[in-house]
Amino acid sequence: MLTFENFDLSTNILSAIKELGYVNPTPIQEKTIPHLLNTNQDLVGLAQTGTGKTAAFGLPILEQIDSRNKFTQCIILSPTRELCMQISKDMMGYAKYLPEIRVTAVYGGASIDNQIRDLKKGSHIIVGTPGRVLDLLKRRILKIDQIKFLVLDEADEMLNMGFKEDMDSILETTPKEKQTLLFSATMPKEIRNIALNYMNNPEEISVGTKNSGADDVEHFYYLVNAKNRYLALKRIADINPDIFGIVFCRTRRETQEVADKLIQDGYNADSLHGDLSQAQRDHVMSRFRSRHLQILVATDVAARGIDVNDLTHIINYNLPDEREIYIHRSGRTGRAGKKGVSVSIVHSKELHKVREIQKVLQKPINKKDVPGGEEICHKQLMNMISKIEQIETIDNQIEDFLPEIYEKLSWLVVKIY
Ligand code: AMP
Repeated sequence: MLTFENFDLSTNILSAIKELGYVNPTPIQEKTIPHLLNTNQDLVGLAQTGTGKTAAFGLPILEQIDSRNKFTQCIILSPTRELCMQISKDMMGYAKYLPEIRVTAVYGGASIDNQIRDLKKGSHIIVGTPGRVLDLLKRRILKIDQIKFLVLDEADEMLNMGFKEDMDSILETTPKEKQTLLFSATMPKEIRNIALNYMNNPEEISVGTKNSGADDVEHFYYLVNAKNRYLALKRIADINPDIFGIVFCRTRRETQEVADKLIQDGYNADSLHGDLSQAQRDHVMSRFRSRHLQILVATDVAARGIDVNDLTHIINYNLPDEREIYIHRSGRTGRAGKKGVSVSIVHSKELHKVREIQKVLQKPINKKDVPGGEEICHKQLMNMISKIEQIETIDNQIEDFLPEIYEKLSWLVVKIY
């Protein structure tokens, strides 16, 4: 099996990723790292989030940054603030033993003055959202006329978020001689056009099947009357007491309503959407990341760039209008070898959407019955009992309390036998 040592990476980079626990490259890293280290050819990578994309482009780019030159040598465009922060944090981690390399993240919704101050110190790698990058270019604070690398990360998301014009303007200011890398989970016509217009004979690589969901995700749907959507959601949460997932809603209003109802009904849930302030969003995300929050109710836009592994469920409270969005949503679970479930609550009028999505997924989306009260009760009781059974005790520490415990539970023993 290939290891990172097989690549032509410097010991500084190898030591940093070793500390991060990376031993074997992921499939996209296996393909991208040697390509970037050995050729100047542009690259289009079809890959979902969670496949190790950041290191795939980040490591070979860091390897080729000339830290003695202060000018910006790489710009990474990414759709959301959260993703920008994640990428720059990852890049700084990979560059732990290359302290002279500077990475700066620039994004909207945060003070531009601080970002300007950072940029004035000089930065080799910029990670930014298209809107803020363009703003800084117009102010002539940011200069990207000498870049060697341009990365368009989650390009389909950037288009979905309406960044097409900003991206065009940015791409036009970059020098001709550079290596452009475009990563996207889906490959709609608009992305092909970007590749055609702005890239030079790109090599195309893909991990997993094109336009399909991750292999480790199981898909099914519940058929309900529209008025019973919320009830079905509660039952899904009830039958999965250890759920750690995202419920996708269509609008900000619906997102807030569903989250409010769940909270009122005693579920460990909260909302994430564009009407919240940045501080509120950061707070919700930090609770979700640390798993203090089990159910995050979110709009697609707000959930973009959430990099949380180990999600057990994706719940489509409504099916999205575009099949690609479904694939993107469900690709947030079933990562890194873990199994995941993508559930949709569907009204009979939406069954045609299920069929269409199945075609793209090339996988069945099976119908399931909404769990009934008895089934839920059984599941929750068994779950509680397993938890009691699995509690680890340190015998010599609880020894003194045991007589009292036995006495309290003595009636149970009589019942069992
Ligand atoms: P990404 O798709 O870049 O967001 O990466 C997804 C997750 O996988 C992140 O938490 C990375 O730290 C982790 N990761 C990336 N590459 C590897 C690797 N080769 N071995 C182990 N973990 C990795």
